[in-house]
Amino acid sequence: MANCIFCEIVEKTKQTRIIHETDDVMAFHDLNPQAPVHILIIPKRHISKLAEINDADTELLGKLQQAAMKIAKELDLSDYRLVMNNGRKAGQTVDHLHYHLLGGRRLLWPPG
Ligand code: 5GP
Ligand code: ZN
Repeated sequence: MANCIFCEIVEKTKQTRIIHETDDVMAFHDLNPQAPVHILIIPKRHISKLAEINDADTELLGKLQQAAMKIAKELDLSDYRLVMNNGRKAGQTVDHLHYHLLGGRRLLWPPG
């Protein structure tokens, strides 16, 4: 998708610190980390947000969650948060579906 920074990261035309990559999933360090560990986990295919997924994407969503779990294990994180913002009022600023994997400090709840 043109003008999508996460698609540019997938195509490797934009540099970032990639931590995990498979045929359909990519994970990389957030540019502006909100915790000692802040990883973004995305599908390589452009999907703008959770509200845009369909039944055929169920397996893909599972793969994103599996990637989060594997990365947390690799980083020796026992406690972490996996969160996805859907829409501007929920905090979404990049319109390419992504999970945030956050950890390495005590995380407040509710998030506000
Ligand atoms: P959102 O606010 O959409 O849920 O999350 C978008 C995230 O992408 C933010 O945490 C922001 O710091 C991160 N981000 C924005 N641009 C870039 C970039 O060019 N590279 C990386 N690695 N992260 C980015
Ligand atoms: Zn995209």
